[in-house]
Amino acid sequence: MIVMGAALVWVVGTCALLAFVYRRAFADAWAEPVLRVPVLILESDDWGYGPVEQAQRLDRVVELLARFRDSRGSHPVMTLGVVLGGPDTDRIRANGCRTYHRVTLADPRLTTVRDAMLRGVARGVFALQLHGMEHYWPACLMHAALTDEKLRDWLTRSGFPCTEALPSPLQSRWIDVSTLPSKPLPVDQVAAAAAEEIAAFTEVFGASPKVVVPATFVWTDAVESAWADAGARVVVTPGLRNESRDAEGRVVPGEHSYFNAATGPRGVLYIVRDCYFEPSLGHTHRSAIQALQCNTRIGRPTLLEIHRVNFIEEERPTQHALEEVTRLLDAACAQFSDLQFMDTAALAQHYRDRSELVETRIGARIHFLLRRLAKISRLRKLAWATFIILPAWLAYLVTRPAALQGSR
Ligand SMILES: [Zn+2]
Repeated sequence: MIVMGAALVWVVGTCALLAFVYRRAFADAWAEPVLRVPVLILESDDWGYGPVEQAQRLDRVVELLARFRDSRGSHPVMTLGVVLGGPDTDRIRANGCRTYHRVTLADPRLTTVRDAMLRGVARGVFALQLHGMEHYWPACLMHAALTDEKLRDWLTRSGFPCTEALPSPLQSRWIDVSTLPSKPLPVDQVAAAAAEEIAAFTEVFGASPKVVVPATFVWTDAVESAWADAGARVVVTPGLRNESRDAEGRVVPGEHSYFNAATGPRGVLYIVRDCYFEPSLGHTHRSAIQALQCNTRIGRPTLLEIHRVNFIEEERPTQHALEEVTRLLDAACAQFSDLQFMDTAALAQHYRDRSELVETRIGARIHFLLRRLAKISRLRKLAWATFIILPAWLAYLVTRPAALQGSR
């Protein structure tokens, strides 16, 4: 009796201690809704301003995605993080690279690109998200160009240059990278620019953006507020918010952390994209499928980051990327009969509505909580070291979703 009492005190005390030390992880893992089905979304940023050859590449992506359907008949969706504008190189060249001029997707010269995007939307395989007016802060770019010949060439060569070619620090839009480490931009300018890009998106596409993907995942409270005030409902994040660049130009995350369906002060809902599927960097469909398996096991959606650069280079790497996407979708459909394709705005709406995709049974939620906590290596080791793994394992078995069938 005494032994059992001591064991009970040990279990309760240790559980309470671990729960206190890991209270943030416990709270987040519990608060993040559990998805009942595998959800797969391809997220592709940087489309828009750039070479007009994009249109033909977008059409090829459309044809590929349209060949697949989930059990409900929905096609896989590639969200396009749209860059609305970039330098008007003719005008900048004409003024000797002294003044910045912008050209946007509203320009007739880029109509083919915009129309290719809209064709994909009409076919149900593209969803348009705002990535930014530009993939940089124009004043910073012009300042840097004063002393950088390559940048002046980028700003003045004919055509529509790729923003991917810019130095990494300059690709962050919402901080002043004129000198490193970066400094904040004036709040009023930032708020005005964020509102302006939402209005420009609406003008170009005829509908306001519901989802925003901050360039290089650098953004601020002022930016988020302006986006929210202009109608944006969702912000995509890798689980953190980058807030500056250090002396070497590397992004520096702030203290914020995010989980799926967490909401911000102005009501935006965060969706986490932390899986990478970039065939041009050597990522394969196998690692993407592993990500889908891991996320599904813990009741999370899988958002795969696959940038435009995979599809707009030479023919060979483009073909390779298309083949990897095909293999991924073949494997995902074969392995997950209940797989659901949707866009990120639809996923966010499922979370907001606590729709039928969201687990509500308390036992199943505890089960997924344990699965999520087990992913924390240090906590798992502590659970073994303190023998708390035994009651945790018992709780895990008892709450298995199969054992809960019919008890909803
Ligand atoms: Zn980008």
